[in-house]
Amino acid sequence: MGSCKNQEGNRQNCLWVHGPIIVGAGPSGNLISACLKNNGVRSLILERSDCIASLRKQRTYDRLKLHLPKQFCELPLFGFPENFPKYPTKHQFISYMESYASHFNIEPSFEQVVKRAEFDSTIGFWRVQTQDCEYISWWIIVATGENVEPAIPEIPGIERFDGPVVFTSLYTSGSDFRNQSVLLVGCGNSGMEVSLDLCKHNATPHMTNFDAPSGNNPIALDFTGMGKGEAWVNGQSIGRYWPTNNAPSSGCTNSCNYRGPYNSNKCLKNCGKPSQQLYHVPRSWLQSSGNTLVLFEEMGGDPTQLSFATKQIGSLCSHVSESHPQPVDMWSTDQMTGKKSGPMLSLECPFPNQIISSIKFASFGTPRGTCGSFSHSQCSDNGALSII
Ligand SMILES: Cc1cc2nc3c(=O)[nH]c(=O)nc-3n(C[C@H](O)[C@H](O)[C@H](O)COP(=O)(O)OP(=O)(O)OC[C@H]3O[C@@H](n4cnc5c(N)ncnc54)[C@H](O)[C@@H]3O)c2cc1C
Repeated sequence: MGSCKNQEGNRQNCLWVHGPIIVGAGPSGNLISACLKNNGVRSLILERSDCIASLRKQRTYDRLKLHLPKQFCELPLFGFPENFPKYPTKHQFISYMESYASHFNIEPSFEQVVKRAEFDSTIGFWRVQTQDCEYISWWIIVATGENVEPAIPEIPGIERFDGPVVFTSLYTSGSDFRNQSVLLVGCGNSGMEVSLDLCKHNATPHMTNFDAPSGNNPIALDFTGMGKGEAWVNGQSIGRYWPTNNAPSSGCTNSCNYRGPYNSNKCLKNCGKPSQQLYHVPRSWLQSSGNTLVLFEEMGGDPTQLSFATKQIGSLCSHVSESHPQPVDMWSTDQMTGKKSGPMLSLECPFPNQIISSIKFASFGTPRGTCGSFSHSQCSDNGALSII
């Protein structure tokens, strides 16, 4: 098919290709070329690296095996050798690809980086531009793969991280991370296998990828088990977390009453326990699946204990009138004190661990509306809410 360099080694500007141009000498490019040849059609493969199956050869880790049984991965017209195991190793797959190419006499033009390809309607041909020359053909087939380019998430502040940051295509073996803590972003095939590789080399991997909790209730991350640090969800910071910071160990009371003027000693809770474990994650930041959580832990925690909590928000309403009888258990108190107490109203959450976080409406009078949409009516005291 020829190359861009002529016999004197000078560059030619333009090369006519008798048959389709195929971009990429991975498995797809090779099998297309083989199938075309099998039907008597010549083709030319342009490959930017210096070898076939460059993804496997140059951009995969040492322990890689096929993730699918070999019968689902062999290329047409020329199968895997009989003696290959069910899951061939990286090196077996490479040797298979090399035999495949030589069996069909496929000789790609290496180190040709396709920079542009456009159909020239004035001449009715494709012009395919590499750094060396322009190839011209009736047809172009693009087989440049789906995972050649690294997809690295944006992580604000990553430049302040002292350790190595490596994309899997540059990861070779867990031996480089022996006895270290490694945060792995992504739980796909590569993430899972690299995680295993790290374990085998005595490193401690932490993996982060999650589906959004179902429903529409607000979501919080429960940082129990972590120390102190900062967390990002899909590149957005949810802020500093510090669940190891405990609330003061004295001053807590069992009874909690916010009535009257506020002061910071009212309703002290969690005495001696973490002052905050739940950190809000806005739902609008999440996709249904494939979300990424990145943690920069400063004190050393256990991310396996991280979990999601969803908050159920509901409304409680109640009303009482002067003519309501008071609860039966108050009758004896009245007899003892001689004083008649008025009717009582109490609100209670339906589930344990739920709390009433705010009171939105109170009326001393005759309010209008229903629970969730009450409003004051003609006869009312607008100051009722402020005394509750
Ligand atoms: C960890 C891992 C495990 C996998 N396990 C399996 C498995 O078990 N079974 C299975 O069937 N598949 C598996 N795959 C997927 C498989 O590797 C890919 O589907 C396969 O490599 C795709 O082949 P391809 O030819 O389409 O692309 P690639 O192999 O990516 O080849 C594309 C080629 O195009 C070249 N190229 C790109 N851009 C240009 C350009 N501008 N100019 C010139 N050349 C260019 C690249 O250099 C490359 O050689 C796995 C992948 C990974 C990462």
